[in-house]
Amino acid sequence: MHTVIVGGGFAGITAALEISKRQLGKITLISDQPYFLHHATLYATATGRSVNESVISLQDIFADHHDVTVVEDTVVDIDGEKHLAIGSSKQKYAYDNLVVAIGVVTTYFGINGMADHSFGIKTLKEVNAFKEHIKGEVLADKHFDKNYVVIGAGPTGVELAGALQSYLHELKDRYLTKGTVKITLVEAAPKILPRSSNTASAKVQKRLEKLGVKVLVNHKVESIDDENIIIEGKKVPTKTAIWTSGVANHPFFATKPELFTLLDRGPMPVIVDDHMQAFKDIYVIGDNAAVPNAGVAWTAIRSARFIADHLARKITQRPFKKYRYPKPSESFPIGDGWAYTEWRNIYATGRTGYVLRRLTELKNYRALLPYDQAIAAWRSHSVRETE
Ligand SMILES: Cc1cc2nc3c(=O)[nH]c(=O)nc-3n(C[C@H](O)[C@H](O)[C@H](O)COP(=O)(O)OP(=O)(O)OC[C@H]3O[C@@H](n4cnc5c(N)ncnc54)[C@H](O)[C@@H]3O)c2cc1C
Repeated sequence: MHTVIVGGGFAGITAALEISKRQLGKITLISDQPYFLHHATLYATATGRSVNESVISLQDIFADHHDVTVVEDTVVDIDGEKHLAIGSSKQKYAYDNLVVAIGVVTTYFGINGMADHSFGIKTLKEVNAFKEHIKGEVLADKHFDKNYVVIGAGPTGVELAGALQSYLHELKDRYLTKGTVKITLVEAAPKILPRSSNTASAKVQKRLEKLGVKVLVNHKVESIDDENIIIEGKKVPTKTAIWTSGVANHPFFATKPELFTLLDRGPMPVIVDDHMQAFKDIYVIGDNAAVPNAGVAWTAIRSARFIADHLARKITQRPFKKYRYPKPSESFPIGDGWAYTEWRNIYATGRTGYVLRRLTELKNYRALLPYDQAIAAWRSHSVRETE
């Protein structure tokens, strides 16, 4: 059996490792980039922590898996009848089973100027551009911006706002004698962390405010240019707005309506059956699948493990199981050594929450990497890159 997996994120990598572990035949993993991006720590890499905790080479991950071939290519077409995935390189990949896990993309909800005048932290390129901007101001121009505006108070927004506060103060102590750091976190919904419990929203907001972050809920960003951002009609001068809101499903799926049916709401993920199948022998997992609790690493890993088990059952003609989706735990690190962590309505804050968060990160690295490499990536969180 030849399984072709498209996407080298949490779901695609876990699927390849789990299928390899079960010795189900040849596996080809196609990714448009040569590395795995650990999204959950990008907020930290963007604010002075080591890049090694967020960027891990795919070759390293699969070094000991000789049944997995990693190919750098972008899949641009699928022929469901002929069982072929087609890359931008014009290469055709014949498959028995195809697993698609290509993640989501950013959407700016049509906000005037946002695509051109905001920073982002969802890709390595965006993180590097943001870091260069901060260093350019503080190290070269020797000043802070008038305001730093983080737009969107989902998990990425709250984590970034907390980390940015610590990072800018650290830079101030090292390189500037004066200057004020003003960070505003803006959210259109009535509370921060709109998809989380009220306790999570309240505790995280209190922590952010204690750190000195101004939190605005029920506030819509209307437009932005290279000097100002307009929030609910009010002009706020800034050259540093960071867009952390808005995800849409990968546009590839809409180009293949004969294979994929999209949910008509939210980020418009792909509708799958109980076995994550979207079309004959084509499975969609991770952020791309319309299943409850999608959009987090835990669900991506879980759906990937499910697919490996499903393919093993398919080969050995054992009865299929249905995909189940319990609620994952949630954890939001805010500033140094503090996190809110919640699991099944039990929560921990402060140092305990932070230790639990770090343990979750270690577990995620271990799902992908051999022990030594997982520990190295996990430990690199304590490496500061302020220069
Ligand atoms: C900034 C940020 C912070 C986050 N923080 C957390 C967190 O703290 N905790 C948590 O649980 N979740 C977090 N998430 C969500 C989590 O990262 C995702 O749920 C998870 O990565 C989904 O895995 P995936 O494999 O479906 O997609 P991804 O990890 O996005 O992987 C998709 C892969 O497919 C590749 N690809 C795309 N198109 C093609 C193509 N046409 N051909 C080949 N390859 C392609 C991409 O380059 C990428 O490598 C965060 C997400 C972001 C963006």
